[in-house]
This record gives sequence, C-alpha cells and structure tokens, in this order.
Amino acid sequence: MKLAGTGLSDRGRMRPHNEDALLVDLDNGVFAVADGMGGHAAGEVASGIAIEALTERLSHPRSPDADVPGMLRAALDESNRRIAVRSDENPECRHMGTTVVVAVVDDDRYWIAHVGDSRAYLVRNGAIHQLTSDHSFVNELVRLGMLSREQAARDPRRNVVTRALGSATVVAPDIIEGKAREGDVLILCSDGLNTMLGDERILEIVHGAARDPERTATDLVEAANTAGGEDNITVVVLGFDEPGAVPPAGDGESSRTTPNET
Ligand code: CA
Repeated sequence: MKLAGTGLSDRGRMRPHNEDALLVDLDNGVFAVADGMGGHAAGEVASGIAIEALTERLSHPRSPDADVPGMLRAALDESNRRIAVRSDENPECRHMGTTVVVAVVDDDRYWIAHVGDSRAYLVRNGAIHQLTSDHSFVNELVRLGMLSREQAARDPRRNVVTRALGSATVVAPDIIEGKAREGDVLILCSDGLNTMLGDERILEIVHGAARDPERTATDLVEAANTAGGEDNITVVVLGFDEPGAVPPAGDGESSRTTPNET
C-alpha cells in the first residue's frame, strides 16, 4: 500500500501559545499528535518531551516481525517517565501532562495507541469512524448513559481528561490494530479540531479535499478556525492507495463527492 501524508499544527484564534506537538515520519510510518497541558508554558514542554521520546523510540526502521504494540507501550512509558522527571525537577512544570495519539503504519497494517482525548478517525467508503475512545470525564458520562455525545461535545467539563502522560506512574494506553484498504484516510487530531467540528463536518471536508492530504489538513485547520479556533488545532492526515493508482482527476472541486456516491 502506498502511503501519503502530512501534518499541520496551528495556534488557533484564542490561545496565546500552541501547546500541541506532532510527529510525521513517512519513511518509517510513524505519526503522532500530543496536546500538552499545564500552567504557563508547561503544556508545550510536556507535549514536546513526548514527541521527542516517541521520535527516539519509534522513528527508525523496524523488522517485519517487530512487536509494534510492545514498542508503542515502551515508547509511551518512556515519554511518561521523562515528563514526570522534568516536573519533579522544575516547579514551573509541576502538574504538566500531555495527551498523545500515535500511529505506526506498515504497508496496509496500522497500530494506534492513545492516552487522553486526542483522537484517531478513519474515513472509509464515505463514512467516518472514530477509532479511539476519549479518556475524558465527559466520555465516561456518555458511557454511563448520563450524557449524549452531542451534550458531551458542548459540556464545559469536556477538557477534563482521565488519563494523560505525566500524571501517573503507570501508563495505560488503548492500542488498536487494523488493516487499511485502498482509499482509506486516517486522521489523528487534537481536541481543538473535534470540539470545533463535528464528525459529519470533518467527513465533508475530507471528501471536499479530493484525497489530497495537504489540502485536507489545511482545510480542516481553516474550518476549525472559522468555527471559532478556541483551542490549538493539530492534524495528521494519511491517505492509503494501491501503488500505481491513478489519482483523482480535477482540482478537487470538480471531483467532490457525497458520501453515498463512493
Ligand atoms: Ca487541546
């Protein structure tokens, strides 16, 4: 499977700093989005440490029989440890933490690990699927049937995460494994995207961008800013194609499709 992809991070319209960080390594098929939190600039420090540790641990060639889930767990443990060490050493960084969603792609196989409320979405056959389940207070209420997904999206407590790197001695990531098909689009994002844009709007933008990852990323960030840009916005967009597949004709506008046409 041929993989094309890109990443984009934007401060948004309301926040003074960008506390998100990202990793895009197409050569080794390693991608991540981290959304830092903490007072002053500590959020940036935490997300930066996480991305640095993930890069060191994962951004290198793997053997075909590599234990990818094991590697993901070890890399997240290392990120967590480094953030905890830095917060112990530096009072300014006390209580800092970060979410992370990380994807490893090997031909048509992918593995996704996440901690916190940064998400992975899969767009396939005209439908959008949220692959990750937020480790957040409001999502717990959704699971218990006490809030609807729509209420959760607007709830003022929606930023409260129940798991993060840097806040626990043991990291408990969820790890998902899947097989990509031709035409799939995989999106990793920080909550600055999905709190501004609902799933249907994200799907519409992915289709409108005619399978061009750069354009998809730009359009998603622009739409989140147009919707208010209340938080930092980070996206990684990955497109899967068969080698030698002919890219769609036209400039995107002319090849725009509705979900039930594909
Ligand atoms: Ca955020």
